[in-house]
Amino acid sequence: MKKHTPCTPNLSRRRFLASLGLGGLGLVLPSASHAAKSLADEELVTLHDLTKCVGCGACVDACREANAHKFPEPVRPFPPMFPASVKVEDWSTKRQIIDRLTPYNWLYIQSAHGQFQGQRFDIHIPRRCMHCQNPPCANLCPWGAAAREKNGVVRIDPEICLGGAKCKTVCPWAIPMRQTGVGLYLKLMPRYGGNGVMYKCDRCYDRLAKGQKPACVEACPYGVQEIGPRSDIVAKAHALARNIDGYIYGETENGGTNSLYVSPVPFDILDAAVTAGPGKPDLAKAPDKMADETRMAYAALFAPVAGIIAGALRLGSRLSGGDDADETDDTPKRPPDAGTPDDEHKGTWS
Ligand code: SF4
Ligand code: SF4
Ligand code: SF4
Repeated sequence: MKKHTPCTPNLSRRRFLASLGLGGLGLVLPSASHAAKSLADEELVTLHDLTKCVGCGACVDACREANAHKFPEPVRPFPPMFPASVKVEDWSTKRQIIDRLTPYNWLYIQSAHGQFQGQRFDIHIPRRCMHCQNPPCANLCPWGAAAREKNGVVRIDPEICLGGAKCKTVCPWAIPMRQTGVGLYLKLMPRYGGNGVMYKCDRCYDRLAKGQKPACVEACPYGVQEIGPRSDIVAKAHALARNIDGYIYGETENGGTNSLYVSPVPFDILDAAVTAGPGKPDLAKAPDKMADETRMAYAALFAPVAGIIAGALRLGSRLSGGDDADETDDTPKRPPDAGTPDDEHKGTWS
């Protein structure tokens, strides 16, 4: 098994990237027009080579920076909900949390430590939405707010999401995270319908549209992630797995996803070694949620209606200017003086 190269703890991320000559924007792309076409028109897959990840968090930092303009700014006070048992989910005062998924943290580093074949392993796994090929979050969203795009990006439209959390309930990894006090529900039936907006990784769709790579892919100093057309990346994942005598996660999970992980340690062992729970997805075998006949029938029948509803909600939102999954907030917080994710390198985050 390959050894991980330790991060350089005394350098800031920017200085460190600069020292490697990797700090600038727009690195990597051979030709803007070719990249714009290939990154916007085809089903795209990301490949994570877990032998390379050192858990430095530069990708998390980059995601937060690149997507900060999409983060929710809730209106206070929150409307009292009916029934009162409907829970407020307010992450806006906990934006500093980086060791789990939240509406303000769409990517986090999960770590697994243990023994395999007599050798110690320390594997770091960047976790976020898997961008499923047949995503139940999009197929079953009653309002058409979640959708899968032609290039495989699955995203939630914050303009029309009502925060009912159906997407989270049906996602095998419970990825989308809710923020109360923001979105269309405030203008419709603030007490009775919805409870905010759901947020998750949108694969930097806006950067892709400009021919750029997702921020996390671009920022990694170790080249852990690669993004490209599905056939290329699946072939690369298999070649890498053969090379390291390793294992693939994401190719068949939930019927197939557009995020592949390759590891020298089997994923059932990693799954047993990681901390999973609210905002911390597991690595278990995930059966295809859309294989259920009732769900398939619902999706087939409802898709056109959802499209109409989504259009109406979008229009309503513009004209007006603008099964819930509860969880306990038991997440450890990043101390205010903890510095950057680089300084907090490995393990100390969780
Ligand atoms: S920046 Fe690269 S090496 Fe660092 S945690 Fe992210 S994927 Fe791993
Ligand atoms: S991982 Fe979950 S949220 Fe992401 S596309 Fe799949 S079902 Fe949807
Ligand atoms: S693809 Fe973009 S939104 Fe998704 S985790 Fe990476 S940086 Fe964040």
